[in-house]
Amino acid sequence: MKTLKQGTTIPLSNGSTAVVKSLLGEGGQGAVYLAQVDGKDYALKIYAKRPSKKFMLNLLDNIRKGAPTKHFLWPKWMVNSPVYSGYVMDVRPKEYIEFSRFLIAKARFASWSALINGAMEITYAFRELHRAGLSYQDLNDGNFFFNPKTGSVLICDNDNVCPPDTNLGIRGKFRYMAPEVILCKNNPNNLSDYFSLSVILFMLLMNNHPLDGRRVASVPCLNDAIERHVYGEHPIFIYDLKDDSNRPVSGVHTNVRQRWQLFPQFVRDTFFKQFSAEVMANPNKRMADNEWLKVLQQLRNQTLRCDCGYETFAEVGSGTFCYTCGKQLGKPLTLSIGKQHIALYPGMCLYANQTSAKDDAFTVTGEVVRNAKDPYVWGIINRSQDTWTCTLPDGRTVNIESNMGFPIYRGMDVQFSQTRNGKIDRVIIKPDRVIM
Ligand SMILES: [Zn+2]
Repeated sequence: MKTLKQGTTIPLSNGSTAVVKSLLGEGGQGAVYLAQVDGKDYALKIYAKRPSKKFMLNLLDNIRKGAPTKHFLWPKWMVNSPVYSGYVMDVRPKEYIEFSRFLIAKARFASWSALINGAMEITYAFRELHRAGLSYQDLNDGNFFFNPKTGSVLICDNDNVCPPDTNLGIRGKFRYMAPEVILCKNNPNNLSDYFSLSVILFMLLMNNHPLDGRRVASVPCLNDAIERHVYGEHPIFIYDLKDDSNRPVSGVHTNVRQRWQLFPQFVRDTFFKQFSAEVMANPNKRMADNEWLKVLQQLRNQTLRCDCGYETFAEVGSGTFCYTCGKQLGKPLTLSIGKQHIALYPGMCLYANQTSAKDDAFTVTGEVVRNAKDPYVWGIINRSQDTWTCTLPDGRTVNIESNMGFPIYRGMDVQFSQTRNGKIDRVIIKPDRVIM
């Protein structure tokens, strides 16, 4: 199809009309335009070739269902005229940058916190997508856009989203597809999405593909047969515990060689397991998105900001130091709430799903601060609307109203809500206590 001219009018399924303003981009499937609908700017995707009836019915169904979360640039209205087929979605704000730009260091996250927030937002968005009875099917580094300051994510190309085990023609990209999908053993589903999510999370955290080690580095050019072997028939994790044949190569895989050692042990343990030969070959053994969310939240619980301004990861309960300036940050006490352990260091936050029954890992409900008069005294401010009750080591109880704080003591109990109780101590997380 020829590129549409400015001013072309396209009829929409809601009865209104989109007026083409300019071309935003072109791909294999079609072109995306900036267009105006009822005086407001939107993105308009027009397919180069009319998709199947099944595809269009699925698109209509997704429009009816609506976006699972705000992170999806979800189809809003359909274009299905005799001449044009496509859909309208919101325009991506300019500050959101494609993930692939981060992978080649053309864009950088402002901090580890921003990166971890991005990882959590993607995982949360996919959890909600799966809970809505859908699967994404085509996860790859071209679908995600991040705000580098906050890590906030936008997910595009949602027209292939459909119920698990059905397929509308797109099977995914080699490097992101689950082995069983590459080998055509089954159609994409939630379990293959879990594999792709693990790949995306590894790439976000480590800036390297989990299967790209010596094997890929040793071939001058990847072709379909090699890709099928490396990502489908015989995938080997670069840090596989039983097979060291595919380790990262010095001078080639520089990022992952540096970053792998920085993270707390439970993060490495989670990747060891998810990319073990056994779990890669057995989709039913893969960790679900909700479990990933807990792992990432635990990582956020251990991300401390040093006085130098840079962040570092603590092994909860043990001594920690700043990776950037080398300063010893001591052994912060730990607030344990269920299976979550929060290193109590100034700047650390508590979130709604830790202090209440709300399923919300993003709203701050508490904050660790230094006492203004004595910076060696640290406390927690209640940023929620609930009243908390602290039980001091001597048995006295104190109510902590909203926006009030209390000093941190070892041995304290804090009742945040009916269902959430925390204890302050110096907990050591051992690998066998990984939150699963
Ligand atoms: Zn520092």
